[in-house]
Amino acid sequence: MKSISHRISIPSILESGPNALDRIGYLLNREELDNIVLFYDKDIKKILGDRIEKNLKDFYITFISNTIETIDYFSIIQMAYSIPDNADSIVAIGGGRILDAAKYMAFLRRLPFISIPTSTSNDGFSSPVASLVINEKRTTVPAKVPYGVIVDTTVIANAPNCFIFSGIGDLISNITALWDWRYEESKGKGHVDDFAAMISSKSVDSFFCLPFSSIKEPKFIHSLVDSLIMNGIAMEISGSSAPSSGSEHLISHALDKVVQKPYLHGIQVGIATYIVSQVQNNKVQDILNLLKITGFWNYASSLNFKAKDFLKAIDLAPSIKPKRYTILHIEENRKKAKKILLTDPLLKQIFT
Ligand SMILES: [Zn+2]
Repeated sequence: MKSISHRISIPSILESGPNALDRIGYLLNREELDNIVLFYDKDIKKILGDRIEKNLKDFYITFISNTIETIDYFSIIQMAYSIPDNADSIVAIGGGRILDAAKYMAFLRRLPFISIPTSTSNDGFSSPVASLVINEKRTTVPAKVPYGVIVDTTVIANAPNCFIFSGIGDLISNITALWDWRYEESKGKGHVDDFAAMISSKSVDSFFCLPFSSIKEPKFIHSLVDSLIMNGIAMEISGSSAPSSGSEHLISHALDKVVQKPYLHGIQVGIATYIVSQVQNNKVQDILNLLKITGFWNYASSLNFKAKDFLKAIDLAPSIKPKRYTILHIEENRKKAKKILLTDPLLKQIFT
């Protein structure tokens, strides 16, 4: 028998909507968390600090607040152990880096972690892992799914569109990732967790079915956020990133090594998803339609991606995770992907 049962953590606080920031105090109070350590991005503290702290005071929540300026693993460990023993939770507000740092501190100190993203550029705000820097190398370390996720759709809508596009790219990659995961199992080289696969599949399907007129609409952002949260849960259930990370993610991770300044994770992943979907012959048109109607494609076309960088990344993709067996782990398929990259008329709009 492969495994007997799952023991997983799921968030107790899931709040998303316009001005959700004004409900932080209420939500913490509801969970009897009243002595918190608050971490901000420096810029976010300037913009939202007073509003958040007033809200906490209104609910008699004691807090100490700090900013985080590093994601260096050893600095984060030091910071984690300087958190007072009587703290009952860690709350972080900001972008991916700060959420990862605070998530890891909470994991080390076994404290509930409340994640409050100010952009939804990837599924990291709800995932059970953190991306930190160890010996100058970006490294994924295990952590726990947040105890709470609070997303203020007004704040997200005010962030530049590229962050929303990036979230879309990271979500649609579930389609190619699930294909890879099942392929791996069919070759006897992996084990699909059916429930995690179902959640991952549902989270992207429900997003595809959503009628919307603008990506800034609260219901659109709400749906994107919910789906990205489900990605985090799927990863927690399966104990791996496989439900939402396949060969398209390997291309993006390889690209991070190839280019000097990587683009937003979900933008790279979104383009790679379109390429891999063609190699897999898997929902190509659906993926393209979504990328087009949301404005992702237009945005990606303005970034001057270089074909030679992507070609190199495709070659490097299997070496990123040699133990996996995705479609790109086979040389013939890498050749196919490179040919698509150079000949697909739509990809010609993206690459210079
Ligand atoms: Zn991702």
